[in-house]
Amino acid sequence: MSSVGANDISVLRLGHRRERDKRITSHLGLTARAFGADKIILCGEEDKSPLETWSSVTSRFGGNFDCYYEPKPLKFLRNVSKNKSSTIVHLTMYGEGLEKTISKIPDDKSIIIVVGGTKVPGEIFGLADYNISIGNQPHSEVAALAIFLNSWVGKIDPDKRFEGGEIKVLPSAREKKVFIAEEE
Ligand code: SAM
Repeated sequence: MSSVGANDISVLRLGHRRERDKRITSHLGLTARAFGADKIILCGEEDKSPLETWSSVTSRFGGNFDCYYEPKPLKFLRNVSKNKSSTIVHLTMYGEGLEKTISKIPDDKSIIIVVGGTKVPGEIFGLADYNISIGNQPHSEVAALAIFLNSWVGKIDPDKRFEGGEIKVLPSAREKKVFIAEEE
């Protein structure tokens, strides 16, 4: 298991559909950010809306989460695979179980976690260093990513991870409590 900051964690979202995936893609990026990823790479239909959402949440709640649109994901991943610059982990219900596989993933290299949307091209399975399932039932990229990141990253120190935000939620048993940083 890596420790956050030991290496760069990116999420690559394949096959975003501007109308159909509006909410789930937005939630995928928020999940990536909240559970320790450093960036999300949006692929599929170009759409500035999720990028704006993620950037806005990062500026309000802190941290250095990055996001951008990649028009050619297969070319991008072929390059990564050729240069071995990062470990490619593809989350798919057809993969090998998380528990069995996670300890095999090198934790001294950056990692790109690939999740699908529309039909995932078969080539992805070959480009991935690891095809990993979170159970072998069909569910969702958000659930799969959350469970993988929680296992891979482990506990996050929010004060370190989300430094510099305007808003900080104060955990409360009954109320919505937030700390708002003074305007500089
Ligand atoms: N139609 C896509 C396809 O044919 O591959 C899959 C649709 S699925 C709703 C979207 C994404 O959720 C998948 O590409 C995968 O990344 C993730 N996912 C769904 N179930 C999963 C599971 N059991 N384990 C790991 N990832 C899963």
